[in-house]
Amino acid sequence: MPVFTVRKSLESHGNNHTTDITSQVVHALTETAVDSGIVTIFVTGSTAGITTIEFEPGCVHDLSAAFDRLFPRDLRYLHHERWGDDNGHSHIRAAMLGPSLTVPFEQGQLLLGTWQQIILVDFDTRPRTRNYVVQIIGE
Ligand code: ZN
Repeated sequence: MPVFTVRKSLESHGNNHTTDITSQVVHALTETAVDSGIVTIFVTGSTAGITTIEFEPGCVHDLSAAFDRLFPRDLRYLHHERWGDDNGHSHIRAAMLGPSLTVPFEQGQLLLGTWQQIILVDFDTRPRTRNYVVQIIGE
């Protein structure tokens, strides 16, 4: 079974910055011309995560606010004391969200809901380039 690996990147502001990457995944799928299978989207790095959401400003804000409530920035993180880093909460948020997502596709179409977009959330505390991998397995 063929496997296609496509590397992508985006510019992020950090601090829960959320990017809709659905069109990038669709583009990778279109390039491979595979009919049916699964696509895995994986973000490289331990301070970002991938999931789906209805990508509209209200939902995106609510998700960001939920991470702020669940994993506050101003707690004591041993990571800060160990490395002099300021992103202990970023690592925890990323671990809880998870670095990857698998989406099935059929006849070249991702089987997402109408109001379901694929998002990459960058939890780090500074602007940076985020790299992610789109890997397609199918026939
Ligand atoms: Zn760190």
